[in-house]
Amino acid sequence: MLPLEGRPGQISLLAGKPNENTFPLTAMQLTIRDPLASGKDMAVELSEDELHRGLQYGPTNGWSELHEWVYGLQVLQHGRHKGEGWTVSVGAGSQDLVFKAANAILNPGESVLVETPVYAGVLPIFDSLGCEMIEVHTDADGIRPDSLRSILDNWPATKPKPRVLYTVPYGSNPTGATATLERRLEVLALSREHDFLIFEDDPYFNLYFGSAARPPSYFALERDQPESGRVLRFDSLSKIISSGLRVGFISGPEPIVRAMDIHSMEVNLQPSSLSQAVAYKVLSTWGYDGFQAHIARVAEFYRAKRDAFEAAMQRHLAGLAEWSTPEAGMFFWFKLLLSDPSAPDAAADASDHDSEDIIRRKAFERGVLALPGTTFYPSGAKTAYVRASFSLLPPEQVDEALRRLRETILDARRE
Ligand code: PMP
Repeated sequence: MLPLEGRPGQISLLAGKPNENTFPLTAMQLTIRDPLASGKDMAVELSEDELHRGLQYGPTNGWSELHEWVYGLQVLQHGRHKGEGWTVSVGAGSQDLVFKAANAILNPGESVLVETPVYAGVLPIFDSLGCEMIEVHTDADGIRPDSLRSILDNWPATKPKPRVLYTVPYGSNPTGATATLERRLEVLALSREHDFLIFEDDPYFNLYFGSAARPPSYFALERDQPESGRVLRFDSLSKIISSGLRVGFISGPEPIVRAMDIHSMEVNLQPSSLSQAVAYKVLSTWGYDGFQAHIARVAEFYRAKRDAFEAAMQRHLAGLAEWSTPEAGMFFWFKLLLSDPSAPDAAADASDHDSEDIIRRKAFERGVLALPGTTFYPSGAKTAYVRASFSLLPPEQVDEALRRLRETILDARRE
């Protein structure tokens, strides 16, 4: 009944809200970088109304101003317009929303298609629902539609088909891969042919720094399809505004988003009002021009980090590891070459090395941490791959980390 409070003339005895005049926070000033003025600081203050609403309970699906901002963003970035069968909700980051979408849609024990290697943060979500995770192969060009097709074409007639595919389309975590346009189109065609939803979990969309034009998202590509409504798009402010604010958005078919909102009512009532107040203040102060200028700067920052990291990889790991160059995101995914190719028995044992022990024990002892690739396999399969983040470290530390990794690999080769 809460929306009825807005009707003129109504006196409401409804809400169990505390009186915000008793709250001790009386003003909130923010200092924000202005991307349109070379990153100079600008001072803004939350209005009394914004502050009160920020301190108070709010709508389950988030602030309507933020919804409008997301509608505008989706026109700008994906050519998708409001009122065409999809809607928006705010969550505590995309993690929260992926969890709620999975819970809203999947039945316990159902099969789910997951690109593999996959963002490790979704494994417990599907696990907790008792889902069987079907691994769809990927490579440097992203998800492989041939793998997807072969799974679906050979699906046992007696078993319910998967209704969800989970994928990270740009700068995947962990592989750094961005799916090509051709592959996206094939995956989308398969989603129609085999009737499944695509969970487009996309926190790295705005961290795209590839040399070619960024391919369109699944959300954009389904626009021109007669029966759209198969894509659930997860956006996040975590990589571009603040990860600590915990603000993300779902854009997707209305009935699904509404079912997710019911989960919010049960789990946490709503996303944080104060986080939304701060996020909205930043976004509305900038406008879309400022936002675009900001993300261009962020993407450029990560491109430079990627370049510095790759230069250090070339210095220290040439011949000791194999990798593809990521065009988005913040990860290098590389294979440790633990056999010396010149050793007589190298070919025989080169394929089935496992990075787990090397990384967790030997690299750790040498003072460098990275994530062994097995973390990202639903099956926990052994792999010689490793994930390294290039977002944080200054060049000197990257250089030292990769030098230590080089020593670790050389040690392992000598064993
Ligand atoms: N999905 C992917 C692919 C991620 O890499 C991450 C963050 N590591 C998340 C979701 C969670 O992001 P958020 O902070 O928006 O919850």
